Amino acid sequence: MPKHHAETTRKNPAGSIAEEALVARITKAREALGGRVVILCHHYQPDVIVQFADHVGDSLNLSRLAASRKEARYIVFCGVYFMAETADILSSPEQEVYMPDPDAGCPMADMARLEQVERCWGELTRLVGETIVPITYVNSSAEIKQFCGRRNGVVCTSSNAAKVMDWAFEQAPRLLFLPDQNLGRNTALAKGIPKEEIALWDRGKARLQGDPNRAKVILWDGFCPVHVRFTPEQVMRFRSRYPGIRIIVHPECTEEVVRLADGSGSTEYLIREVREAESGSVFAVGTELRLVKRLASTFPDRTVYPLDEEHSICVDMSRSTPGRLLAVLEGLLEGRAPGKIQVPAETAEWSRVALERMLAIS
Ligand code: SF4
Repeated sequence: MPKHHAETTRKNPAGSIAEEALVARITKAREALGGRVVILCHHYQPDVIVQFADHVGDSLNLSRLAASRKEARYIVFCGVYFMAETADILSSPEQEVYMPDPDAGCPMADMARLEQVERCWGELTRLVGETIVPITYVNSSAEIKQFCGRRNGVVCTSSNAAKVMDWAFEQAPRLLFLPDQNLGRNTALAKGIPKEEIALWDRGKARLQGDPNRAKVILWDGFCPVHVRFTPEQVMRFRSRYPGIRIIVHPECTEEVVRLADGSGSTEYLIREVREAESGSVFAVGTELRLVKRLASTFPDRTVYPLDEEHSICVDMSRSTPGRLLAVLEGLLEGRAPGKIQVPAETAEWSRVALERMLAIS
């Protein structure tokens, strides 16, 4: 598990070297590695890293790409820890996965630890028997994915959460949704599941809030610290200032924000909405700032505002720096690269079961 939170102020190891020199050295190392390496970058990565990407995408698309690029012995994943784990699980045994900084974690994924989830599961099955299917959002550790794999559960993404919930209800009358309460709640409400049938597991008190027998959806109480910062007031302010504006948000935002927005969906949905809009369209987008700014510069004939410019940077995504990327690439050339990610075999096996169940559904 990454130990990132205690170290967010750690200095870039190559911070004293001028960025231009770093860029030149990265380019040279990249060329020397040729087809042996593929560099994958999440949409939330800084531009200075994205410029080196072979592919930019969301976590699952990138992991699928990693699995399909069999000729690349080395996968360098510029993102956060659970993404590199997923790439390792889905890639072939000969491939090796590296991160510029393995301490780049995801606070939301860290909100569901295996021992907490096992305790919750024990209590829920005591209350309602074996009538639950666990679903985990892909933003979770490999340990949580293996937990779901072992218990006939499944992984989902923000694109397919609704479909995966349908599948779960074919298996059992209720589901446990990990770790993001907002994606779980927003998806359940959009399906017409009434609030009284949505319960919440309080991980601090290790207690269920709600009626276990009535609950169809039991939410873990995790959240994304970036996406919960968007507020209904911000949505209303944009509406009154820019009549006709289209406000679109990620479903990791709170229920109130999603309800007030014109649309909500995965990163790919947000990109598609802007790309397919007419020239002159005006948007406010509620997701990580770097993606919103890239949308604005990619489509200069549309106006794209960040719903919140001050609080929507994911700190962990900032931990990939040119110096750290260079250390991995030059290390690969020298046979001693830092940042290798390797999921233990048994955890990987059951995580793969949960991931493959999802791929078969969607
Ligand atoms: S934006 Fe949120 S969910 Fe995504 S990596 Fe950062 S903390 Fe995790």
